[in-house]
Amino acid sequence: MNLSNTVILPGQTIGIIGGGQLGRMMALAAKPMGYRVAVLDPDIDSPCGQVADHRIIGSYNDLDAIKNLAKVSDVITYEFENIDSSALEWLCDHANVPQGTALLEISQDRIKEKKAIQKAGAEVAPFAIITKIDEIYDNMERLGFPAVLKTSRGGYDGKGQQVIRNEQDLVKATELLHQGPCVLEKWVSFKKEISIILTRNTNGETSVFPVAENIHIDNILHQTIVPARISNSVEEKAIQYAKQLAESFQLVGTLAVEMFLTDKDEIYINELAPRPHNSGHYTIEACETSQFEQHIRAVCHLPFGNTALLKPAVMVNILGEHQSKILEMWSKLSDWKVHFYGKKEPKQKRKMGHVTILHDSTDAAMEEAINSRVWESDIEKLTLGEKR
Ligand code: AMP
Repeated sequence: MNLSNTVILPGQTIGIIGGGQLGRMMALAAKPMGYRVAVLDPDIDSPCGQVADHRIIGSYNDLDAIKNLAKVSDVITYEFENIDSSALEWLCDHANVPQGTALLEISQDRIKEKKAIQKAGAEVAPFAIITKIDEIYDNMERLGFPAVLKTSRGGYDGKGQQVIRNEQDLVKATELLHQGPCVLEKWVSFKKEISIILTRNTNGETSVFPVAENIHIDNILHQTIVPARISNSVEEKAIQYAKQLAESFQLVGTLAVEMFLTDKDEIYINELAPRPHNSGHYTIEACETSQFEQHIRAVCHLPFGNTALLKPAVMVNILGEHQSKILEMWSKLSDWKVHFYGKKEPKQKRKMGHVTILHDSTDAAMEEAINSRVWESDIEKLTLGEKR
């Protein structure tokens, strides 16, 4: 059903597939605008379910549950990309899904994603498609040690990946092939990781958020620093790449583009996410309009808000292992913007919330995070260079 130019009015219902923290923050942006929110998630007490008006309980590929979501929703969006393709097809034929399915299908599959990025005129790290063990050995010679083998589908936060530093790692990596086709990527010795979040509507208007600098530990985003400490020419090139991708995909909604920046100021696109992104959480307090509000604006066919940065900001994730330290400080915290996602069990490495620290400079904001000692063991890892 093509209703993508329909303006969704306050009082109407936005349906979200997926009840995690991204859905919760979308819902929290939609509510002040007067929208009702419905969420589809298997868990009745999901982070988004806790703040939504309607909860549809079911798995993401349960067609009956999808139909129930469509019944109560005037427009449908999603907070994660691994949605079953037949469920999506049904939705696109029977409900208002302005984002469509094309970009979702690309970002569900690393092989398709890399080809689509190249087609849009941007660069990816040298890679090979791997379907049999022999192909790993054949391509290691060209790509060299270290390299990384990634499953083409289903991986996130470093899951479904194996860094290959030596022959022993090669043997471990072959196990990933049981999960289906993989990509073997050259290891990029980047000086920084950066990301850009941009939003585009059906009229082809694009809105770009400030470039973010990201630090990952154990493959999970640890910290985002904005403005990114990069030159103007790198900033311009990164934004140009992101816009090229958005145009090429005829994006509707939000696209997060993760990039590696090398010493020679080359930019390689690492990964795409067709939704608001962890590296854009800083926008909630640090930008005039947040990534979540902008996303709601795109799918409700409303004009975009201004994305100007109001203050330098550092966002740090609160994983399960950090939660108790933040709670110990709770009664003394004033200026930190602390978000918890309502997840019950603070498991190791599980994203429980995040903190945004606004300051006069990013150095001062980072220093506050360091002095709090909440992330002491992570910072030790960084200084030891144990980034994986
Ligand atoms: P991904 O799930 O592909 O985004 O990978 C998670 C993190 O692993 C990235 O943010 C990087 O820190 C690191 N990584 C992944 N692929 C590469 C690569 N080819 N070269 C260097 N670092 C990588």
